[in-house]
Amino acid sequence: MTMARQETKDKIVTVVGAGLVGTLEACFLAKRGYQVHLYEYRPDIRSLEHVPGRSINLAMSVRGRTGLKAVGLEDQVIKNHGIPMHSRMIHNTDGTTRAIPYNKDGQCIYSVGRRFVNEVLLTRAEQFPNLTIHFSHKLTSCRLQDGQASFLNTETGEEVNRKADVLIGCDGAYSNVRRAMMRQPFFNYNQTYIPHGYMELCIPATPEGEFVMPANYLHIWPRGQYMMIALPNQDCSWTVTLFMPFPIFESLTTQDQLLSFFQTNYPDAISLIGRDRLVKDFFANRALPMISVKCSPYHVGSTALLMGDAAHAMVPFYGQGMNCGMEDCVVLDELLEEYSDDLATVLPAYSAKRSPDAQAIVDLALYNYIEMRDLVNSRKFLFRKKIDDLLSSLIPKYWLPLYTMVTFTRHPYHLCIARKSWQDKVLKRVLSMAGVLGVGAGVVLTKTDALHGLSYSFITHLSTILTKTWATVTTAAATASLKN
Ligand code: FAD
Repeated sequence: MTMARQETKDKIVTVVGAGLVGTLEACFLAKRGYQVHLYEYRPDIRSLEHVPGRSINLAMSVRGRTGLKAVGLEDQVIKNHGIPMHSRMIHNTDGTTRAIPYNKDGQCIYSVGRRFVNEVLLTRAEQFPNLTIHFSHKLTSCRLQDGQASFLNTETGEEVNRKADVLIGCDGAYSNVRRAMMRQPFFNYNQTYIPHGYMELCIPATPEGEFVMPANYLHIWPRGQYMMIALPNQDCSWTVTLFMPFPIFESLTTQDQLLSFFQTNYPDAISLIGRDRLVKDFFANRALPMISVKCSPYHVGSTALLMGDAAHAMVPFYGQGMNCGMEDCVVLDELLEEYSDDLATVLPAYSAKRSPDAQAIVDLALYNYIEMRDLVNSRKFLFRKKIDDLLSSLIPKYWLPLYTMVTFTRHPYHLCIARKSWQDKVLKRVLSMAGVLGVGAGVVLTKTDALHGLSYSFITHLSTILTKTWATVTTAAATASLKN
């Protein structure tokens, strides 16, 4: 069905929130010709010395890059600014380290500064003549059915009212636009606080201005119930994020308790951060909560929409919150193109398409917290990684590890989960069959006179080869049958 293309230049869009997603979305819409008004609670962050708020740096991957590329910013962010991280670097309690590559093809994620990305986006947004940014404007109320929104100008105290054809809420995890949507019938909403909090600390650069740890890694100190990670910054410092249950944060009330906790769990980090700095920063900071939000649908008629964290806040353990939010902008743009900017068709189509994916990544992010915290002890994780790497080199078209699908492709998130559970089923079946086969082979071999002299280790080795071969063959066959 072809639709008459709707005129965009006469349509007004209000975007609430000039964070990473709202500013990108405003650029996308301005590019399509809409009259865009972007409202932001904070003053212009480009004029601030210090920007309060969360996470100083973020891991950016393919989905976020696709969004930036569409508005001409990928090179500026990734090539000129991003620090590639091609592996995780695991820090053990005895101070030893071990690298685990993200994938066998050497693909990497990038550490980027939140403030830098937001500033670059704002500067890009200003280049569109049909886009106006209103800083220091806080959304106070809105009427979703007719795109009416009221803002408080926090500098003048004035109330500002604006009517638009569409109102898009990109106002983050504690969204006011979403709050208004919660009064709509059939709007489903679910939020979960995890019992863990996070606190950001800093590993400074050396006096010579160099990195104290190998730079192109995401460093992880996995400790079961706790975890610490560090991402490199452009000035050669590291932003360290400590994750642990709130009661543990609260139990560390003195310098001695803190240092002894670090001595037990993160001994190498004491000298990396610096003893005095660790104590000063830890007690000057407070642990912040992490929230997961699922809701649906994301739209009201043809006049209101939620995007980014406002629609699907997630815990940060898959490094996908921003990436998913930026992909939201790509998906909406694809639908606007497909349905010729007919908003009455596009908005429900967006909800239907995006909601299963956003809910899937919200779940995956929670799942990855357990995986990351337990990485160091997890033989199962490393074993599975080996199998995944082996199979993805043998049958790359059909077998991609979950992390690769999520991070390095734009496969819809819900299909990444579906594929992974199919892979799990295939592997379970294959391994149990291979086990039977391996044991059978062992019995036959030990019963054969001619082979009596062979060592047990040879037989074990042979069974392993049989297992691997059987796994590969059966998987390929299963894949082929799935494909047909
Ligand atoms: P936000 O960034 O929250 O922006 C919302 C904007 O709306 C803000 O500018 C705010 O001032 C404005 N606003 C709010 N209320 C109003 C109002 N009433 N009126 C007007 N304006 C308003 N994601 C990744 O992809 N990779 C990572 O490595 C990663 N690491 C993270 C680490 C941590 C510790 C945390 C907490 C998150 C991490 N994320 C990561 C997630 C990422 O930060 C978010 O998904 C992303 O910031 C969402 O962007 P957003 O624009 O939707 O919301």
